[in-house]
Amino acid sequence: MKTLRSVADLVNAGLLPPEAAAGVAGVAGRYAVAITPYLADRLTGAAPGDPLYAQYVPAPEEAYTTPAERDDPIGDHARSPVKGIVHRYPDRVLLKPLHACAVYCRFCFRREMVGPGGEALTAEELEAALAYVRSRPEVWEVVVTGGDPLLLSVRRIESIVRALAGMGHVGVVRFHTRVPVADPLRVTPELVAALRAEGLATWVAVHANHAGELASPAAAAALARLADAGIPLLGQTVLLKGVNADAASLEALFRAMVRHRVKPYYLHHPDLAPGTGHFRPTLAEGQALVKALRGHVSGLCQPTYVLDIPGGHGKAPAAPAWVEPRDDGTAAVEDFTGTRHTYAP
Ligand SMILES: *Cc1c(COP(=O)(O)O)cnc(C)c1O
Ligand code: SF4
Repeated sequence: MKTLRSVADLVNAGLLPPEAAAGVAGVAGRYAVAITPYLADRLTGAAPGDPLYAQYVPAPEEAYTTPAERDDPIGDHARSPVKGIVHRYPDRVLLKPLHACAVYCRFCFRREMVGPGGEALTAEELEAALAYVRSRPEVWEVVVTGGDPLLLSVRRIESIVRALAGMGHVGVVRFHTRVPVADPLRVTPELVAALRAEGLATWVAVHANHAGELASPAAAAALARLADAGIPLLGQTVLLKGVNADAASLEALFRAMVRHRVKPYYLHHPDLAPGTGHFRPTLAEGQALVKALRGHVSGLCQPTYVLDIPGGHGKAPAAPAWVEPRDDGTAAVEDFTGTRHTYAP
């Protein structure tokens, strides 16, 4: 079986009824489609209301772009000094060696940039991007993203990691990827070994949005190969209506992550990517969910709820306030049951 990449492939695989094909032909032409054989197998029998299905199978709602939605929702272009680099914060940069992914998420924040064959850096461009990092002693951490960097060959990953390790000032490399839950057999021992190098700390941030994504033996084994190699794992989640925007789904997801040694890191409010309005809850809904989790699940299971400020201004913590300081030095404090207390030092 091959990766499903077209509406015809989805119909042939039984993931779309033939009569639904015309309704998504336009959006599938505009935004890339890919479902790996592994995920297609997991989606067998799933229908539009399914949280896995909703993440990958194109929907007619994607045809509607709201006035606020934009092609470059988090302002990557405005902060790119050289091709493949986004430098927004002083001490860390994004390195985007390719714009292809194993799967294409229907809510992707970079959906106008990613796609099959999507703009991989040439050897010279990658060298120029690495030269930029080398010339910036203030860069302490390099976040390798894309696209999905774990689609690169083991040899290319190894050369990037070694180059960063050789710079001296770079202490941390962090890979952001969906491969462990989208194409877990790709996480081979050779790939895991290539992620690490002497003199550099490697972290891996795994993008997953529903407990079901971690519920297969293959995904569990991929995560275990990474964790057993001593690589700390972080969880990155997008808050999505129809996927996880309810307290029970979030709780199950974060517990599943922690069980697999993945520390929930960020819960992203969805960016203003075109055609994604049907996925987007309000900030008030997001804050209510964050409140619902507090106290009911372990602190290990609590990510930071963040909003990427449109236009390239970076991320802002978006959690509700539990503590309201007053001018007299006291504060109103809310506990996890919603009861309010006074803090008076
Ligand atoms: C999100 C992001 C980072 C990483 O931010 P952290 O808060 O360290 O996870 C770095 N650079 C850019 C441009 C980003 O968008
Ligand atoms: S894996 Fe990430 S970059 Fe790729 S389509 Fe999904 S959200 Fe977008």
